[in-house]
Amino acid sequence: MTALGMAASVTPLMRAQSANQKVGYAVIGLGRIANHFIGGARNTSNSRITALVSGHRDKAERIAAANSVKPASIYTYENFDAIAQNKEVNAVYVALPNSMHAEYTIRAAKAGKHVLCEKPMATSVAECESMIDACKTANVKLMIAYRCHYEPTNLKAAQLIRRGEIGQVQAIESAFGFNIAPGEWRLNRKLAGGGPLFDVGIYSLNACRYLTGEEPEHISAYASVIDHDGRFHEVEENVSWTMKFPSGIVASCSTTYGAPMDGFFRVHGSKGWIEADPAFNYDDLRLRADYAGTHLDEPNPARDPYQFAAEAEHFSHCVKNGLDPKTPGEEGLRDMQYIAQIYHSAGIAV
Ligand code: NAD
Repeated sequence: MTALGMAASVTPLMRAQSANQKVGYAVIGLGRIANHFIGGARNTSNSRITALVSGHRDKAERIAAANSVKPASIYTYENFDAIAQNKEVNAVYVALPNSMHAEYTIRAAKAGKHVLCEKPMATSVAECESMIDACKTANVKLMIAYRCHYEPTNLKAAQLIRRGEIGQVQAIESAFGFNIAPGEWRLNRKLAGGGPLFDVGIYSLNACRYLTGEEPEHISAYASVIDHDGRFHEVEENVSWTMKFPSGIVASCSTTYGAPMDGFFRVHGSKGWIEADPAFNYDDLRLRADYAGTHLDEPNPARDPYQFAAEAEHFSHCVKNGLDPKTPGEEGLRDMQYIAQIYHSAGIAV
């Protein structure tokens, strides 16, 4: 049964019975994605929000009240380490700007808490390695929140491809981007680490890996800035890159902060093709395929925050049962290594 399947079969009675055994999460950073995660955790059988970490007390109190979090379990970034004494907190969910992921993962590990950290894992390979080391030393679990690994449309595409339904995969196309508003922390290199590749291009990069089950051997890339309107002083606007995998599969990917670009992938094999379009949105995903007489057109009716519920369900299951998560720190580290190679090839300093 998939993580989503488990979430879907939970009844209110089961929820009540298992309330005491739920994994308690402290949410660090109360922005947009934290909101989706909090909603997702509510829809699981095994997870609950038990603490909040924020620089804005009013906002934290509002969210605490709506989620039955005790006011005493609201922390600031300054007194965060005191969370070590909070027995209701088993794990943290790091939902901060990218450059803060390493610091809060390491502080959480030192406080003895398991860590579910948002993507991208950090802003450099060295930071990813220090996060993995800190969690190993503290004997806590580390999972990177790659929600597509827990999402049925993406899982089905990967399964059909791995089963050989479209024959030998030859080529993949994938893209994901959006037109960014000025003033976002995502445009600040120090906070974001880089531009759209760190933020949304990583979905295409990661998809090429989970769809093929292979690791890229060769990477080449271009980056550009077209709109000289003040947004792109510190990070690139566009990146396109190609990857060659050991079997010979070639992938061609693009990301942008300069255009609305719904995330998709299309995989071409010797017997047909499979695409998810959209592939990476929070809902309304759609799988289409055409191979060996089979025509698929499957809109996914699941609604946000189903992906966050599946992800939380999986991590809590791992925490409760001493299992390794499907997307551990090493998965985030690998993407960071490829991001560094893409930047290097595109002539961007890392
Ligand atoms: P956001 O700007 O909406 O929220 C960031 C939070 O961090 C805010 O509450 C802000 O107050 C807090 N913060 C603390 N220190 C800050 C600082 N110095 N500068 C700016 N904010 C600071 O951002 P978001 O979209 O929620 O993204 C947070 C993380 O989640 C990022 O790493 C991002 O890549 C990731 N994310 C993941 C997904 C996904 O689908 N998995 C989607 C969006 C974002």
